Amino acid sequence: MNAVTELQVNTISHWINGKPFAATSGRTSDVFNPAIGAVSARVSLGSAADVDAAVDAAKAAFPEWSETPPLRRARILFKFKELLDRNHDKLAELITREHGKVFSDAKGEVIRGIEVVEFACGIPTLLKSEFTDNIGGGIDNWNLRQPLGVVAGITPFNFPVMVPMWMVPVALACGNTFVLKPSERDPSPSLLIAELLKEAGLPDGVFNVVQGDKIAVDTLLEHPDVEALSFVGSTPIAEYIYKEGTSRGKRVQALGGAKNHLVVMPDANLDQVVDALIGAAYGSAGERCMAISVAVTVGDVADELVPRLAERARTLKIRNGMDSEAEMGPLVTSIHQAKVEGYIAKGQGEGATLVVDGRGHEVEGHEKGFYVGGTLFDHVTPNMTIYKDEIFGPVLSVVRVRDLAEAVELINAHEFGNGVSCYTSDGGVARAFSRQIKVGMVGINVPIPVPMAWHSFGGWKRSLFGDHHAYGEEGIRFYTRYKSIMQRWPSSIGKGAEFTMPVAK
Ligand code: NAD
Repeated sequence: MNAVTELQVNTISHWINGKPFAATSGRTSDVFNPAIGAVSARVSLGSAADVDAAVDAAKAAFPEWSETPPLRRARILFKFKELLDRNHDKLAELITREHGKVFSDAKGEVIRGIEVVEFACGIPTLLKSEFTDNIGGGIDNWNLRQPLGVVAGITPFNFPVMVPMWMVPVALACGNTFVLKPSERDPSPSLLIAELLKEAGLPDGVFNVVQGDKIAVDTLLEHPDVEALSFVGSTPIAEYIYKEGTSRGKRVQALGGAKNHLVVMPDANLDQVVDALIGAAYGSAGERCMAISVAVTVGDVADELVPRLAERARTLKIRNGMDSEAEMGPLVTSIHQAKVEGYIAKGQGEGATLVVDGRGHEVEGHEKGFYVGGTLFDHVTPNMTIYKDEIFGPVLSVVRVRDLAEAVELINAHEFGNGVSCYTSDGGVARAFSRQIKVGMVGINVPIPVPMAWHSFGGWKRSLFGDHHAYGEEGIRFYTRYKSIMQRWPSSIGKGAEFTMPVAK
């Protein structure tokens, strides 16, 4: 980078108590435009003092916000939804410029986030409780769901709008106050979200953003005033967050990595299978926790499928994500690009058949961009590293099995269980597959089964640590404490102390 560009690079910092907050640490990290491979900004890496300031602001805002009637909280969310609609393109452009995914995909991400806001607008109904009149002797019993206090969200680079939106609208609607620690690789959208929430009328301190890395995360984990943590990211960090957070008595939901399989039965419509695999393996350059990275072909179906996939993988339109023709953009950083290319070499070394090699892919005019072309392996076996690890790049592996039972056994033995799909024309196969598979989200002839906002999102096994999935009613449960209240009035209280277990009479 030359000196002129150096001066022009902005520093992205925090948002605390309703306004921008200059970081105190002096530490920064480069943010890239991955399509051109150049630094576009620097992000401040928050210190413990910065995190303390955000938590203090959130703690101070909690009493009033938690006492604000749910209907008034919902009205702010309605306004926020309107502002998100109005700023849809702006948010999507921020995503594409820092993440690299194609603009239309970034717009789709924003919509999936907006849908959670729409769900959270129903909070007066969602918090409606159950009441039992007259459980006995003039006593009534009902339950409340009350907010937890200050809650924190730690989010990954691959959905810088959608994943924070899995958490923030639901947590705020329930009456909590929030500290978000976004990914340091694409931090800008979080600040626009903060501005829009303020414009929607959210009181200062209810939503705060602290940029940063491990130091900020560890400070949140250790902070006595943080009641709960929602994490989405890779499995080793998810496990760390879950263990550290719960050992300090915090409520934690930690969503981790994935290796998603798509089973192709011999009776599946192959045209549909090819479209599904190409979109789900190479969309967003494979940087999705719900990307399909393994095609499990049953019987001889691979003989016809693999050449058809190869042709499509070779002709993917790989461009700058802002190019309206682009089907796939770059990877997020050059470090990640090198890691994905390393996996391709490893797969070849371990004996898989490399049908299409995406290494060294160059895009004209963007020679420094972090591109990897669509890559296809055949004859992958379960002992290979490229089968076991989450590569998080545009690499699709084909594993051949004899029958459905072998496919189910293979998938159930994998350490991850986020999403899975089965393509078939047989209702019996579909039903058996859905019931037997040990995976949290299942698609039948649907390649990427991301549940809608009023259902909930989450995997099984080492794809999720904790008891609650994200958003939907699971999100409401995560962000509230259940309380049961029993009440009677003096006129219905009998005389004399009771020494036996109270029972309904
Ligand atoms: P990551 O685990 O590297 O980072 C996630 C967050 O954790 C970031 O905010 C980061 O700053 C923080 N972090 C990183 N290292 C840390 C450390 N040592 N200590 C404390 N905090 C740390 O993940 P990523 O690369 O940003 O995202 C990709 C991963 O996220 C993939 O594994 C993907 O499958 C997963 N993901 C999962 C889901 C899901 O719903 N299960 C959704 C999206 C992404």
